[in-house]
Amino acid sequence: MTKPNSDEHEISLSDFQQLIHQMYFSKDVARGVDGTFMWLMEEIGELASALRDGTPEEQREEFADVLAWITTIANVVNVDLSEAVAKKYGRGCPGCGKFVCQCADEEKP
Ligand SMILES: [Zn+2]
Repeated sequence: MTKPNSDEHEISLSDFQQLIHQMYFSKDVARGVDGTFMWLMEEIGELASALRDGTPEEQREEFADVLAWITTIANVVNVDLSEAVAKKYGRGCPGCGKFVCQCADEEKP
């Protein structure tokens, strides 16, 4: 049903989640959250490595992989990522409510 956007540089978070769902959902559900989370951790390790000494292209690929695995987990637990992000960050920093964070440095945001 969902088709990949013809312009690969213009894919919304919502489109991406639908695309990941279309491509992998049945496999992701079979693997489950725990197994899928292990893949995410592996990809985060690869991102760390690429950030340390990878090429810009390798870094781009690892960011894409990490986002894909996070999106996969969101699909398995039925979380709408676009809605989640908009709700938490769409009105500014969740800590101080500003669009340029003014939380004290020792606070997390
Ligand atoms: Zn803040």
